[in-house]
Amino acid sequence: MRVKGVAMVLGRTIHLHGASRLEFLSNTAWVRHEACHVKQYREYGMIGFLVRYLFQCARWGYYDNPLEVAARKAEADPGILEGIEII
Ligand SMILES: [Zn+2]
Repeated sequence: MRVKGVAMVLGRTIHLHGASRLEFLSNTAWVRHEACHVKQYREYGMIGFLVRYLFQCARWGYYDNPLEVAARKAEADPGILEGIEII
């Protein structure tokens, strides 16, 4: 069984661990998920996002954290990639 890599978004950069750029980019749902986090950073700012994220994880846990719920929803939304440029 393949262990899925993880991605962590900091600002507008997606950091990958245990997954290559190609593996990441070929997984559309995954790209959309992380793109949603990039947009959340844009909306709240770096500090605003991190404070919200930590607070919401502490309150609701990782899975039910509203920022994660929104990102999981975005996995099925092709429009989430609008305004996102992958370089
Ligand atoms: Zn996420």
